Amino acid sequence: MFVVPRIDPLAFIIISAAFGTLCAFLLFVLNSGLLRDIKGLGRWGAACITMAMAAFLFALRGVVPVFLSSFLPNLLIVVGVITMHTSLTEYGGLKRKKKPPVLLAGTVALALTWATFLQDDYRTRIIIMSITLTVLFAACGLVIFRFKEQGFAERFTGLMFLATSGIMLARCIGAFFQNGSLTINTDTSLIHSIYMGTFAFSLVALSVGFMLMVHRAMQTKLESLATRDQMTGMYRRDAFLALLDQSLAQSRRDQRPMSILIIDLDNFKEINDRHGHLTGDRVIIDFSSKVQQILRRGDAVGRYGGEEFLVLLPDTTKEDAYSVADRIRSMAAETWSREIPAYTVSIGVAPLMTGCTDSAILIDVADKALYAAKKAGKNYVELACTQSYEPVAS
Ligand code: GH3
Ligand code: MG
Ligand code: MG
Repeated sequence: MFVVPRIDPLAFIIISAAFGTLCAFLLFVLNSGLLRDIKGLGRWGAACITMAMAAFLFALRGVVPVFLSSFLPNLLIVVGVITMHTSLTEYGGLKRKKKPPVLLAGTVALALTWATFLQDDYRTRIIIMSITLTVLFAACGLVIFRFKEQGFAERFTGLMFLATSGIMLARCIGAFFQNGSLTINTDTSLIHSIYMGTFAFSLVALSVGFMLMVHRAMQTKLESLATRDQMTGMYRRDAFLALLDQSLAQSRRDQRPMSILIIDLDNFKEINDRHGHLTGDRVIIDFSSKVQQILRRGDAVGRYGGEEFLVLLPDTTKEDAYSVADRIRSMAAETWSREIPAYTVSIGVAPLMTGCTDSAILIDVADKALYAAKKAGKNYVELACTQSYEPVAS
């Protein structure tokens, strides 16, 4: 005969507390080095410790006074979930409100004091805790759905929080309708077992979800460090050249046009000499944000040298590329901030030619056009002379 194995709730609580402690340890270790930029790690670790302490205290029921085995762990759970909410707010870069969590924790502490020491009513305690946790877990789930990035990890963790909130709500409704006098020793309802199990399981599942989110954020960060120039957010030279090679091959296969721009800031040495290197850096950042506003999805911009940039315009004829270049030139000359001196740029435009199989040749053609633009007096756009080649399409 098949026998359903009985899981000892005490063992379950102790295992979950141990797991919570391990999660906290892992997060405290991760909260250094590269991952320091990912916010909220340490706080999630603190939340895990708080919940683990609560689980250990719950496990001491009957051995230590009710203050230690009921009042304090209940309060610690509330503080733990509030800390999770704060951690998520920090992680997602959202605005943090300090007053509501303090007010909520204070109110719950007062309500629990009344229910534990004055009324000594188990049902009231369950109702207070389950209502509070319904609200808190739901708030955590909703904060995740406000993150800019929404991937599998976010959906998993958000839904886990909402499911936990649902179970807390069911526990509250169950406590209302349970017959007879309810005490800790007579409460053997199915919903109570689910409720206790949920605490243990949630701590594990939510921490796994949070680590999945951290893992994704770390991947994005490493990818960005490897391929992006940290000052401007543009592609680094190597990453850009790889993209250019790919795009060139694709355009040749599809017989589609493609163009590149090479841009150089005019008289930049003078800007550095007159205003200092730091202001020079600000000019570069200002210019990069202007370029990125003009480009479409699918276009790409890379920092080719100190104040030289390459722009890749897939599916763009030389006429259209010229007009994009001229918009960049005129936007660069606009003054957006008083802290940044006026500056101009010169641009060389080169379309992909039939015979061109090598991106180095295309860059060379664009570079010659840039040289002509500088010679023409700067703040100028020059279209490359490609007479010796035939454009792929026009
Ligand atoms: P031109 O109009 O002919 O381009 O004259 P230019 O003075 O801009 O000459 P060039 O393009 O050769 O100048 C490059 C200068 O850019 C030299 C270098 O000191 C400066 N530079 C390169 N990278 C950076 C950077 O990251 N920050 C700052 N502030 N300056 C940089
Ligand atoms: Mg230069
Ligand atoms: Mg220059």
